[in-house]
Amino acid sequence: MSEPLFGRVAILGLGLLGASLARATRRGGLARQIAGYARSSETRARAAELGLCDVVCDTAKDAARNADLIVLCAPVGAFGALAETIAPVLKPGAIVTDVGSVKSAVVRDVGPFIPDGVHFVPGHPIAGTEQSGPDAGFAELFDGRWCILTPLGGGQGDASHIADRAEVATLAQFWRGCGSDVEFMDPHHHDLVLAITSHLPHLIAYNIVGTASDLEDVTQSDVIKYSAGGFRDFTRIAASDPTMWRDVFLNNREAVLEMLGRFTEDLSALQRAIRWGDGDALFTLFSRTRDIRRSIIDAGQDSAVPDFGRHAKPDAAGKTNTDD
Ligand code: NAP
Repeated sequence: MSEPLFGRVAILGLGLLGASLARATRRGGLARQIAGYARSSETRARAAELGLCDVVCDTAKDAARNADLIVLCAPVGAFGALAETIAPVLKPGAIVTDVGSVKSAVVRDVGPFIPDGVHFVPGHPIAGTEQSGPDAGFAELFDGRWCILTPLGGGQGDASHIADRAEVATLAQFWRGCGSDVEFMDPHHHDLVLAITSHLPHLIAYNIVGTASDLEDVTQSDVIKYSAGGFRDFTRIAASDPTMWRDVFLNNREAVLEMLGRFTEDLSALQRAIRWGDGDALFTLFSRTRDIRRSIIDAGQDSAVPDFGRHAKPDAAGKTNTDD
């Protein structure tokens, strides 16, 4: 058997992402030792019970000490404090990365605490579910999903020209070992792309579910009874972790507001088309969006099975990857 890619891998945060990463790291034989840390003693005890890591530490410092790879897997708003805490024990040559859903704010909050000689390579696996906590994790979460790395020092635009730096290449190899396909971007570009593909859809879902629950002339039971008419799919997204998503919106404010501006303009155009009975405008848009759905299926990023494949094809644990 070949040598693992890393000696010790420290995973800070043992929820959906951290637990999945621990399981994928083990499945891929990517570390000689996996150390984990979570904020609460309940989560640490559960992680130990589940056998997610070789060692579960009571402090972030203890987990990060002697680690060759440190992965921040807490909500984005906690990264700065975590980085400050572990900075004194980071060993020269170690790689610090993260799984946070935003990247510019992570560079801003974590970057200043990274000591000389330690490599900081931010990352974001585009894989998730609406579940949270250590029990939600599963090794297959990253299989066939993109992981975007946003290595620093490449300037604006495409970051692929710094992808061959040793620490970036090693981290890319790690993610491939976890089942992902790896892509490189600069942090700003990442935040714009994710604002429209992930953050705005979540905001819309939170909003529509909130509106429905506020409606006084539609009873709650009717909303639930007839939810298969489209509403149900929004409720899945709107069930996502409130802390994580609060932090995403607070930390990707500009990109989200920019996309929200575009979105509300387009929504007004739709409103006008409905008001003036402009069926051609509606038909043209709905045909264009159907093509986009087809291209997502063709790219292998979703299933064409009716009901999004959710009932038809959950994995062995009944969990379905939803790429959040
Ligand atoms: P999660 O299931 O709620 O787990 C979060 C973990 O972080 C828990 O172990 C929690 O510990 C710990 N934590 C919370 N606050 C902390 C703090 N202040 N200091 C230290 N640790 C803290 O969340 P998740 O879904 O795994 O998300 C984790 C990260 O992954 C986020 O940055 C998110 O943006 C990113 N991400 C999520 C998805 C997704 O679909 N969920 C997809 C891609 C990326 P306790 O349990 O002890 O509170």
